Amino acid sequence: MINSEKPLMLVLSSPSGAGKTTLTKKIQQSDNSFKASVSHTTRKARANEVDGVDYHFVSKERFQKLIEEKAFYEHAKIFDNYYGTSKLSIKKIIDNKQNVLFDIDWQGAEQLTRHKELNLLKIYILPPSAEELEKRLLTRNQDDKEAIKRRLSSYSKDILHSKNYDYVLVNDKVENCFKEIKKIISNHLKKKN
Ligand code: 5GP
Repeated sequence: MINSEKPLMLVLSSPSGAGKTTLTKKIQQSDNSFKASVSHTTRKARANEVDGVDYHFVSKERFQKLIEEKAFYEHAKIFDNYYGTSKLSIKKIIDNKQNVLFDIDWQGAEQLTRHKELNLLKIYILPPSAEELEKRLLTRNQDDKEAIKRRLSSYSKDILHSKNYDYVLVNDKVENCFKEIKKIISNHLKKKN
């Protein structure tokens, strides 16, 4: 943890395809005090994804059971799938004296905001435009046409929630956006100390 008693809970949210995954990786690579929490999801793994690394891929039944057991810190239904952060995954990071990096949607961010005791910093990442987002979703070739259409149609509704974040950044050039995030983190930590 960087000069702070409480671990920093850094939340990055964005419409899918705005470059958040790349930014999450860059933050962890540049500063090993940050560790991304590995979420649970009922979504099927994509070709390049590894169970336990990118997500814990579980069935809907297992996810439901975990909800009943109150195993989640926060969870949400996004399109047809469930996503959630388990309390255990956060505990492991905190016990290791690291800061937590969340790649979660606005619903999850809202749930975390209710925990007033957290040292929370929320950043919303926007793509430069809806057209650019469509281009990125098409070129990364991870989703079928139907999924891309759904992601784009939820885009305008999703970004309305950006007003509930501490900062909103446009990811035009990933390197610039990354520098902005570093600056925001550093200022936040200075304020807290
Ligand atoms: P994808 O299916 O593209 O990996 O992720 C879809 C959306 O789910 C992204 O906006 C991502 O931030 C969000 N997401 C991933 N894990 C979680 C989680 O544990 N909780 C919540 N609320 N959202 C998540």
